[in-house]
Amino acid sequence: MNVNGMKSPVTLSALLAATILSAGCQSLLAPPSSAGRWYRGNTHTHTVLCGHADSSPETVAAWYHDRGYHFLILSEHNKFIDPATVALPEPTRRDFILIPGEEVTIPREIHTTAMNIERLVPWRFKDPTRSTVIQQAVDATRAAGGETILNHPNYRAAPSSAADMLPVDHLYLFELFNGHPGVNNYGDANHPSTEVMWDEMLSAGKLIYGVSSDDAHHFQTIAPNKSNPGRGWVMVRAATLDPDTITAAMLQGEFYASNGVFLKRCDRGPDRYRVEVDTRRTRRELETNWRLRGRFVERGTKGYRIELIGPQGTILETVRGTRGDFLIDRSLSYVRAKVTFTRRKPQTNQLEEYYAWGQPFFADGRAPQPAPRVPAAR
Ligand SMILES: [Zn+2]
Ligand SMILES: [Zn+2]
Repeated sequence: MNVNGMKSPVTLSALLAATILSAGCQSLLAPPSSAGRWYRGNTHTHTVLCGHADSSPETVAAWYHDRGYHFLILSEHNKFIDPATVALPEPTRRDFILIPGEEVTIPREIHTTAMNIERLVPWRFKDPTRSTVIQQAVDATRAAGGETILNHPNYRAAPSSAADMLPVDHLYLFELFNGHPGVNNYGDANHPSTEVMWDEMLSAGKLIYGVSSDDAHHFQTIAPNKSNPGRGWVMVRAATLDPDTITAAMLQGEFYASNGVFLKRCDRGPDRYRVEVDTRRTRRELETNWRLRGRFVERGTKGYRIELIGPQGTILETVRGTRGDFLIDRSLSYVRAKVTFTRRKPQTNQLEEYYAWGQPFFADGRAPQPAPRVPAAR
């Protein structure tokens, strides 16, 4: 199958000194690849089978099916829900799939989504070192045919750190945003935000992409203190909609993560990083999806802001507006784009932000080592 990935063809040393040219500069360089179409998905959801969620697998799947999502993982705590056993609403959309998965749930709040597995993944890992436990989960997941997303590193009771994730081989995905109200995505006085963790790992040379998910448990009652669906998702660019192709595309970073902002384009490299906001779809989502929860901020300017971010989280360039067209300085080890939409919350008038996070483009040639298992070429 075709995988819409891109590999960095050049290896250059990472230097912070950068010159990034912004929108409006015409380039003679080739346009970046933008093949495939976007599929909306949620990689993290619960059902009554876990004992603390409120809806059946069928009800949960129907929620996403009926709202235009294209794929969903019923990621139950240490239970494997075979998609073949879950009846979808009739008539069933042809462009909606369940990707088999599980939330590997280990003591000390070490949770991972085992994505696209063939069977149950074990979870009784007891090593005192968190990195070792995460590695064991990753290895067990790969043995079951899947790939790992490290979930909610900033869960309130027992956060994981960048140092915990950094040494783990074959860990290419982690939750940058998780919609559960008990997850402190943005950090606090004692814990860095997940985004700071991300830049720490990327700056240290790790290949890891940021996921946004619901971690939904509550479909019957909508409230800020409930973990409701529709708060975090990924948009994956792929040639076809099937579990192998979607998983492979995510391992290539062919997606963006969102908690409210939709993009028309998000093209990473090889020469430019181009982002364009889908303002209509974003406005519609923000006006109609009242489950969304923005990040409250003290100060800010209403509207869109696009940032190009480099090593150590350095903001290289900021554009106010809905389009960013950045020439990539390939002396930097990586760059990534982040879109922020700021508004006053209609109900409370509080200033709040929503985001779309583009995945990093690596100019230093880093690639999965060894390469992740991808579907065989046709
Ligand atoms: Zn969890
Ligand atoms: Zn969960």
